[in-house]
Amino acid sequence: MSESKDFLRTIVEEDLKSGKYKEVTTRFPPEPNGFPHIGHAKSICINFGIASDYHGHCNLRMDDTNPTKEDTKYVEALKDAVEWLGFDWGDNVYFTSDYFPKLYDYAVELIKMNKAYVDSLSEEEIREYRGTVTEPGRRSKYAKRSVEENLDLFERMKKGEFKDGEHVLRAKIDMSAANMKMRDPLLYRIRHAHHFRAGDEWSIYPMYDFAHCLSDYIEGVSHSICTLEFENNRDIYNWVLDTLGLKLSRPYQHEFARLGINYTVMSKRKLLELVEGGQVSGWDDPRMPTIAGYKRRGYTPESILNFCDQIGIAKANSMVDVTQLEFCIRDDLNKKVPRIMCVLDPLKVTIENYEVSEEIDASYYPHDVPKEGSRKIPFSRDIYIERDDFMENPPKGYYRLTPEQPVRLRHGYIITCKEVIKDASGNITEIKAQYHPESKSGSDTSGIKVKSAIQWVSAKEAKTVEVRLYDRLFKDEAPEGVEDINPDSLQVIKNALIEPAVITEKPDERFQFERQGYFYADPIDYRDEHPVFNKIVGLKDSWAKKAKLNEKKKTGEPASKPQTKKVQVDGEVAPMSEAEQTLFDKYTGEFGLNSEVANTLARDENLSSFYEEALSVLNSPVGLANIVANEVARELKQMQASELKFNAKQISELVKMVDDETISSKIAKQVFEEMAKSGENPTQIVETKGLVQISDPSKILPIIDEIIAKNPDNVAKFKAGNTKLLGFFVGQVLKTTGGKANPKVVNELVAEKLK
Ligand code: ATP
Ligand code: MG
Repeated sequence: MSESKDFLRTIVEEDLKSGKYKEVTTRFPPEPNGFPHIGHAKSICINFGIASDYHGHCNLRMDDTNPTKEDTKYVEALKDAVEWLGFDWGDNVYFTSDYFPKLYDYAVELIKMNKAYVDSLSEEEIREYRGTVTEPGRRSKYAKRSVEENLDLFERMKKGEFKDGEHVLRAKIDMSAANMKMRDPLLYRIRHAHHFRAGDEWSIYPMYDFAHCLSDYIEGVSHSICTLEFENNRDIYNWVLDTLGLKLSRPYQHEFARLGINYTVMSKRKLLELVEGGQVSGWDDPRMPTIAGYKRRGYTPESILNFCDQIGIAKANSMVDVTQLEFCIRDDLNKKVPRIMCVLDPLKVTIENYEVSEEIDASYYPHDVPKEGSRKIPFSRDIYIERDDFMENPPKGYYRLTPEQPVRLRHGYIITCKEVIKDASGNITEIKAQYHPESKSGSDTSGIKVKSAIQWVSAKEAKTVEVRLYDRLFKDEAPEGVEDINPDSLQVIKNALIEPAVITEKPDERFQFERQGYFYADPIDYRDEHPVFNKIVGLKDSWAKKAKLNEKKKTGEPASKPQTKKVQVDGEVAPMSEAEQTLFDKYTGEFGLNSEVANTLARDENLSSFYEEALSVLNSPVGLANIVANEVARELKQMQASELKFNAKQISELVKMVDDETISSKIAKQVFEEMAKSGENPTQIVETKGLVQISDPSKILPIIDEIIAKNPDNVAKFKAGNTKLLGFFVGQVLKTTGGKANPKVVNELVAEKLK
């Protein structure tokens, strides 16, 4: 169970404690009209997760009340997804369609109570009669029908005597209810359609609002958890159960915020359009945000569960950054998969002074991954390297092979370029090189300095593989659909070369191709005679860089580097040395740093040693890393390490105050500025300047009251639904306290006050 309890778990716990329910029963109730997406994963994690945390049960129920859109293949996909994520629905899958006879009986009961009637207005009239938010609706003249007439008509609707749309069954509630949903909602409609399970037995189908609460009741569900857009449906949910006199243990509905992710569309309908329009190869196309897509791409269930855990459960809708999901998969694979070498765009290198052949023993895992295993890499006179890893006229800061600059072959020797061979049109076709016999990795006595190590394969033993480089499906941050597709979301490389052990030994299905990213043996198309690998994710976020480049383009400033459409190798600026790579792996793996921060620290010896020293005093890897990679790094750009006014121990002292909430992280920055200027101790600064964080509600509440009183317009706007203004109020409070108020506490108090 995650450490801090979310509001749903709090409700469940209270209900169990008070004895309202003996056992918690939840359900995951998808409509089988498409493949489940990552949003459904969130719902699955919540419903199955809560049931398992409290030793209850979660039903998997197909909400199949719409015969024209549903299909068995979607039922199977939903089962696959739940199973793959590691959850268990028990002995059987439930179907709303199995309850059709019971639901019909409940409807008859409502009619007999004069609480439901058959209406014969047209669809348009029904809409018109409903009124608007500001105007009450009018009741249909058919609402006056007698119970007998209603019973007769409803039975004949069932028998199929009427055409689609001729009649509907409606609840008799209140045509002037403030909640529009309560203005005599529809309970049943006529549909002469074949249902994939119920066949042709039914000519009427129940509406969501009628079927859902009763299905929950029939199954003994205690907590019916759904997304916020059903908030207004809660009144109907309760009305149906109350009116029918269904008592405890009856279910209650609770809503949470739906998951939205940028660069992603999250609706089965829109995803279906992509499948039908052929923009993707199917529901399980590795670019699709469907569970089947992630599975085929190579995501692990653990990475998705972790993601769902990280984003938490909230009551307000928000947008999650897709990099967070990408981070989760990178983070999971970093700890698990073997590192191997693959060359995507091969350039031949002949090592002229190497006559024999040998096998180099190389570990599959870096030091900080607690896994064992190694393979032999064949090394010979003829090898291939990545075309991008050689440049004849390199720009400044290019650390790989050039006519002047040697490079290390990862796990192997250092080589020097001797000659560049070109074809008639000037394209480089081959490099003639020399190797340095004493430079072998692990026993290097050559004394030659190189700035990077590159991947390579031996020409004779390398295997040809197909590599599919996937990128985000949408180029737009808030995509609508087809029109926002990223035209470069798939690049197929037919003739990549991989070291032989990957194919013969098959040490795993997922790999890190060194310096390229994480890859997965495609579970459908992979054949021994034609291996296919999918790119799961790069080693770091390559979009952040692109976005900056585009930004410059927009402002007319020349972009620092032309964007090529060639194979893009991650880490293009300068590959890390082996030592840096080891640090980087430790920081992202063991310490859980994000790759940006880990990258900054690992590449700078001053920073990493400062960081390690601070860590030896305070075990707070993330907090320390952030301040060292940002604040300390900024200072170090302007002076030598020896000139710093503060030391690592004092930085630990500062971070400790943030960790134990003595000061906010915002104030920490202020304290840092002071430390950098005066060299004073952080504790001292906090004391003399009175910067201790204010978390006591009794000190914060009066300020909130004052700000609310001063801003009646914004309060009204907030209450009318502009929830973005929450930030405004929080900001005002923080400003008034000079940044000293505890933002978390302020947030909670403001939200409470404005409710
Ligand atoms: P879609 O619009 O993609 O079809 P839906 O809400 O209609 O989604 P259902 O099959 O009815 O899909 O949903 C099954 C369950 O999954 C519901 O309880 C729903 O609230 C939940 N769910 C759907 N989308 C999300 C999401 N983006 N975030 C969290 N939960 C979701
Ligand atoms: Mg839907």
